[in-house]
Amino acid sequence: MEKCMFCGCKKNNPVLFLTGLYGNICVNCIEQAHHIINKKISKKKEEISSVGSNISSPKDLKQFLDQYIICQEEAKKIISVAVYNHYKRLTHDILDKHNEIEIEKSNVLIIGQTGTGKTLMARSISRFLNVPFTIVDATILTEAGYVGEDVESILTRLLQAADYNITAAERGIVFIDEIDKIARKGDNPSITRDVSGEGVQQAFLKILEGSVVNVPPHGGRKHPDQKMIPIDTTNILFIAGGSFEGIDRLITSRLNFSSIGYKNPTRSSIEHNEILQHLNATDVRNFGLIPELTGRFPVITYMHPLDTHALYRIMTEPKNALLKQYQKLFEMDNVSLILTKEAIDKIVTQSLSTGVGARGLRTICEKVFNDFMFDIKKNKSILKIDGKMVENKLNNYNYKAS
Ligand code: ADP
Repeated sequence: MEKCMFCGCKKNNPVLFLTGLYGNICVNCIEQAHHIINKKISKKKEEISSVGSNISSPKDLKQFLDQYIICQEEAKKIISVAVYNHYKRLTHDILDKHNEIEIEKSNVLIIGQTGTGKTLMARSISRFLNVPFTIVDATILTEAGYVGEDVESILTRLLQAADYNITAAERGIVFIDEIDKIARKGDNPSITRDVSGEGVQQAFLKILEGSVVNVPPHGGRKHPDQKMIPIDTTNILFIAGGSFEGIDRLITSRLNFSSIGYKNPTRSSIEHNEILQHLNATDVRNFGLIPELTGRFPVITYMHPLDTHALYRIMTEPKNALLKQYQKLFEMDNVSLILTKEAIDKIVTQSLSTGVGARGLRTICEKVFNDFMFDIKKNKSILKIDGKMVENKLNNYNYKAS
C-alpha cells in the first residue's frame, strides 16, 4: 500500500495524493508545508523592512547627521542619498524578487584629512539605522597566507558586533579606515610580492561586491578546526575612509591638462580648498587603488579640512559636543562648568596647531581640565574658566613637557 512520504497516511484515504518521481505526498502535508514557508517568508520580510525603515527620506538622515557632524554639508548630502538608496534597494531586492532591474549597491569612499569626521559619519549612520557596525584598519590586513589578518576577519568583527545574529550582520555597516594605505606603490607590483598593497586590494574585491564568504566565527587562523559561518555580503554597506595625502596634486595635474594635452592657464588658479571638489574616480585610481576596487565604491566624497570656526562649533554645538561632555562630568560632582568665549577660542586655536583636526580638541581639553578634575571638591559650586586660565594651563603643560 502506497503512503505519504511525510505523514505516512495511506493512499486509500479520501485525501488527495500527488505522486512524484520518488514517492507520494498527501494534500494535508502540502498545505502544511505551504503554511510554514509563507510564515518564514513573511518573517524575513518583516526583518528586512525593519532595517532602515526609520529612514523615510535622505533629508531625514541628513537632519540626524546635522546633530552630530558640523560642516561637511556636501558629504552629508551625498552620503544620505547613498545610504537611503542602499536600504531602499535592500527592501526592493527581498520584496520583489521577480523584478528584473537590479539596483547596484552604493559603497561609499570618503576622502579627507584625519580628524575631519569620516569615522564619525559612518558611526552616526549606523546609530541612526540601528544596524551592527564595525571599524577596521586596512593597514592590519594582509593577503591570505601572510602574517597579519585576512580580509575575512572584517566579517568576523561585524558578526561579533551583531552578537552572532547572521541576518543582522548581513545588513550591517563596515567602516574601512586608512584605505589609502593599501594603495599600490609604483607601477611594477609584480617583481616583489606586494603583501600589504595590491594583494589586499584584490582580497577586498570579493567581500565588497557581494558574495557568500566563509567566516571564522572567532577570527584568526589560530583555530583551523573551527566551523565556518557563511555570510552573504550583498547587503552589507561598506564605507571606506582615508586621507589620500597628495591626491590634491593629482587632481590639479589632471585639471591642468586639457584633453588635447597642454596646460590650461585658467585652471591653475583653483584654490587648494576647492581642488577636492573636482575629485573623481580617476584620481583615486591614479593614487594607487586598482580600478576594480575603485569601481566598487561608486560614491566618492570628501571632507573639508576644519578651520577655527568649525572647531569652535564642534566644541560647543553637537548633541554630544566635547564641552557638554566635560560639563556633564563636572556636574556629576556638583560643579557647574562655564567657559568664556575667549577660553574656547584659545582651546580651538591651540587644537588647530596640532594638525589632527577635531581630534586635537580632546587632547587640549584634557590638558586644560586635568588639574581642575584632580582637585575637584564635591561642593555645589561654579567653575568659570577664562582665556587667561586656559593660557596658564597650556603654558604649564608645555613647561612640564619640555
Ligand atoms: P577621521 O575618521 O576623519 O580621522 P573622526 O571621525 O574619528 O575623524 O573624528 C575624531 C573626533 O573628532 C570625533 O570623535 C568627533 O568628536 C570629532 N569630529 C571630527 N570631525 C567632526 C565634525 N565634522 N563634526 C563634529 N565632530 C567632529
